[in-house]
Amino acid sequence: MSMIEFNHVGKYYGDFHALKDINLEVEAGETVVLIGPSGSGKSTLIRTINGLEPIQEGHLIVNGYDLADRKTDMNKIRKDVGMVFQHFNLYANKTVLENLMLAPRKVLKMDEAENKANAMKLLEKVGLVDKAEKMPSSLSGGQQQRIAIARSLAMKPKALLFDEPTSALDPEMINDVLILMQEIAEDSDMTMLVVTHEMGFAREVSDRVIFMADGEILEDTPTAQFFEKP
Ligand code: ADP
Ligand code: ADP
Repeated sequence: MSMIEFNHVGKYYGDFHALKDINLEVEAGETVVLIGPSGSGKSTLIRTINGLEPIQEGHLIVNGYDLADRKTDMNKIRKDVGMVFQHFNLYANKTVLENLMLAPRKVLKMDEAENKANAMKLLEKVGLVDKAEKMPSSLSGGQQQRIAIARSLAMKPKALLFDEPTSALDPEMINDVLILMQEIAEDSDMTMLVVTHEMGFAREVSDRVIFMADGEILEDTPTAQFFEKP
């Protein structure tokens, strides 16, 4: 089953046509990388998937729900589709552990002991157990991004969207984040859509590469084929 399906999707900012006739299917478990020049609509495209940007044309089916349908409850989609931003967007006034536990408690009504055990397991996975009681601002950018990824995983999502997750990081921190993303991608159940300039990640980890320009998808190619071109 398709996890994400764009069917002739159009998006406007006022008069500006930011997404033009987008057709795209992402299967459950796939890792897809989105590339293209700045301003081509990559960020807009992935933000439509969890309803951060409304669409005006076509249909966009995510996990079985049509975002073009007014009756669709966005919370149903956001529960299963996590998002990781360029600038982490952690809750600044909450500890690292609280950052991980907040949404599972509020949205999933997860049992408190289970929530904490799950959060600690995720901190272990991202190598930051010792930061559980720290505030986000005391962490490096790379550490904050790994916490942001762990926070997304705490909701046990079916899909994760990444909007330039390493673009705001110092070079020496990028690799830790990419390795973590690779581990998540290798979990065959997780669907990932990643906007990035990291072509090494695209080549090594993704199943498909999508190239956008001027609000259109110009190429949608299996990764091996994309990189064998002259
Ligand atoms: P990319 O992620 O490829 O850099 P974006 O999706 O951020 O591209 O932006 C695509 C185009 O839409 C750009 O021309 C940008 O200026 C415009 N745009 C993005 N967000 C808004 C907004 N909130 N209001 C108006 N125009 C926007
Ligand atoms: P990024 O490349 O990280 O998406 P941008 O500088 O393109 O950052 O956009 C930052 C914010 O400004 C986004 O929320 C985007 O929607 C908004 N934005 C981008 N272009 C425009 C625009 N032309 N008019 C209004 N808002 C915009």
